[in-house]
Amino acid sequence: MSEQPARKFVVVGGGTAGWMAAAALIQATKGQVGSVELVESEEIGTVGVGEATIPPIQFLNSLLGIDEFDFIRKTQATFKLGIQFRDWNKLGSQYIHPFGPYGVTLDGVSFHHYWLRMKAQGRTGSLDDYSMAAVTASLDHFAVPPKELPPGVPQLAYAYHFDAALYARYLRAYAEARGVRRIEGKINAVKLRPQDGFVEALELDGGRRVEGDFFVDCSGFRGLLIEQSLQTGYEDWSRWLPCDRALAVPCDGVTPLTPYTRATAREAGWQWRIPLQHRIGNGYVYCSQFISDDEAAATLLANLDGAPQADPRPLRFVTGRRKKTWNKNVVALGLASGFMEPLESTSIHLVQTGIMRLLSLLPTGAHEPAVADEYNRLTQIEYEQIRDFIVLHYHATERDDAPLWRYCREMEIPDSLRHKIELFRAKAKIARYDEQLFAEPSWLAVFLGQGIEPRDYDRLADVASQANVSAKLDSLRDSIRRLASRLPTQGAFIAATCKAD
Ligand code: FAD
Repeated sequence: MSEQPARKFVVVGGGTAGWMAAAALIQATKGQVGSVELVESEEIGTVGVGEATIPPIQFLNSLLGIDEFDFIRKTQATFKLGIQFRDWNKLGSQYIHPFGPYGVTLDGVSFHHYWLRMKAQGRTGSLDDYSMAAVTASLDHFAVPPKELPPGVPQLAYAYHFDAALYARYLRAYAEARGVRRIEGKINAVKLRPQDGFVEALELDGGRRVEGDFFVDCSGFRGLLIEQSLQTGYEDWSRWLPCDRALAVPCDGVTPLTPYTRATAREAGWQWRIPLQHRIGNGYVYCSQFISDDEAAATLLANLDGAPQADPRPLRFVTGRRKKTWNKNVVALGLASGFMEPLESTSIHLVQTGIMRLLSLLPTGAHEPAVADEYNRLTQIEYEQIRDFIVLHYHATERDDAPLWRYCREMEIPDSLRHKIELFRAKAKIARYDEQLFAEPSWLAVFLGQGIEPRDYDRLADVASQANVSAKLDSLRDSIRRLASRLPTQGAFIAATCKAD
């Protein structure tokens, strides 16, 4: 062992990304990191949106040793079992992308092939009947611990909706209690070492200077270190994902407390609905080429469940990724590293996986180009797979009622996505890749929900007798329905266990 981990980490930015990074660095390395400092500016503030997550966030919370119900109370969180998509395939259509698997693998063959076999004979209904999350969500039910389900029934995977600003505040208290030093101030300049262009120090207002060995750039869209100082470059993906603006507005909550995010396709983009304990978060992600800001605001405000609690807040972005997320002695996380619209709630997750990669490749005092290259290679794969998954929602549509949808239907798509679609159409198979976030059930939900019908299925699913397969499917469907209907409503469960103060 020649090198010790870098002695001093400096996190730039105190949004969700910055405090996640600071908390994880101090906790996971248990003293190996000499020190962690975080610089943020209250005057600049944070993006303050980002409320829907996906199940792997439980891993980060458990790594940090966070008590689940305490976290839920303090962040006004609710439970999330998936995303409901409305009007994406055609106007009036609806489907859910539920978390967790459909059914159970039988004789080594994925469940959906048996379902396709039965469906071809008219002997089964919706694939959702075999998903614990989809059935539970359809009833607005929820309870923890769902892991105690009997064998043979798919587990209930879940994530959270939370107030991202409260989550950052929660992690700040956590990180500061463990020794992270917070520095309030505006960074006016970034000093690079003349000999190699590595970041040496930050210059703050009042003439203060913060030096460090390694910097984590969580400065948001501006990418203070990664772009403004190191000029890393940005890969623009707006030809595939043309939405470039969003308006966000909270509104009063309503009952029932639905345990899923809703994404409704609109004329020039889509609208999110995220129920929290104290309010509903809403927003319209849209393409400025096809709708004015005023029209977008009017559409958003006309489609709220409760009274708005503020004026719509405008945000602008360019979808894409930084060409390198690790450049010299800087790793960029969060909005500083790139942006994909929150259709599948992936941004906070990408912060988490970036942190995990950083921890597993923890920089030593000396710069190792191969280590940075590996970090960048894995990040690129992850970003591109998520991009393909999001593009699928736009491209596989029958909508032709508005210019955005006509554009998306006709646009050239990445070869990697084209292959996935063709393979699914041919044989109902989902192309597998290493490091993939969205596994078979997720692609399946969206392929079928967006109207892509496979021509064939895995013929190994024909080996078992029809009576046997039919009995298994019936029994599974009945068990799931029975178990889900016994759970309390999400509202009742939260009131009994983790209601915010
Ligand atoms: P920010 O919140 O912008 O924080 C930047 C920090 O840097 C601030 O503390 C700021 O003070 C500091 N800073 C910047 N410049 C300076 C300076 N010169 N000196 C000192 N400090 C400085 N993600 C999800 O997972 N789920 C969602 O549902 C979701 N919805 C979203 C909807 C929209 C419209 C958008 C735009 C994003 C959404 N996201 C979502 C993404 C999510 O909001 C972000 O990933 C997350 O909030 C992380 O933001 P951040 O910390 O990178 O940046």
